Amino acid sequence: MLPIAIDPSAFTVPANVQQLTTHESAVRGVASIVASEFGLPVPAKFTVYVYGSRRVFEQGLIEDARLSPARAAELSEFAIGVGKRRQLLFNDDNERRGREWLRLIAHEVAHVSQFELAEGEGRGEQWLAEGMAEWIAFRVLERLEIDTLARRRTLAQAGIRNHASVVAARLDLASFGTSRGFTTRHLKEGSLPTYQLAFLMSDYLITRNGLTAVADYFRSFRTSRDRQKNFERAFGQKLEAFEHEVQAHLRSAVR
Ligand SMILES: [Zn+2]
Repeated sequence: MLPIAIDPSAFTVPANVQQLTTHESAVRGVASIVASEFGLPVPAKFTVYVYGSRRVFEQGLIEDARLSPARAAELSEFAIGVGKRRQLLFNDDNERRGREWLRLIAHEVAHVSQFELAEGEGRGEQWLAEGMAEWIAFRVLERLEIDTLARRRTLAQAGIRNHASVVAARLDLASFGTSRGFTTRHLKEGSLPTYQLAFLMSDYLITRNGLTAVADYFRSFRTSRDRQKNFERAFGQKLEAFEHEVQAHLRSAVR
């Protein structure tokens, strides 16, 4: 279970998805797409850890990623990949190397890029960090010609139709924006619809303001930790105003 050192100077965009069969080749290929196609930063060097079971994964989250034992126990229950600053950690307890495996890898590489932008972890609205990671992942799959963003958007719209916070018209972005609030939400309301909701809100923002604005938003945390102000500066409206607007958009999109 040796850590794999990734050196992006050797990156090339993979010619086809068949070349991505190991965690190492997949991370290299995905990182090269994230850097060259989306212009997002990937660190000069980062490390990939692959663990063979949930138990070893939990141990790795404590020893290699330096998470608290409580957080490691919680995360290893539902996550099979975790992105940290310049680290990617995967639970590889099944042999499947399909589309969802690549989606997961691209999602975690997107988090690594966000941490480079913000120069730290856990900065910025959590729903946007998760939703942008999904958005990037779907675009990577599209680039590899195994999925499309449009198909994922349609699936997500169907997926959240009966989702509690959409039905109740209460997105509550103040709590959805925190790491704790996001985790609570997806434990309570289900992982898939929670990520679909985060994706649709981020998709709306990226479509409206552009991916560069979202990247600039994460970058703004280098100089200020004020989430409200950073959001307002990057997207030209207060978070509450956005909540109102995106709520209306979601309700018409899922109708
Ligand atoms: Zn994530």
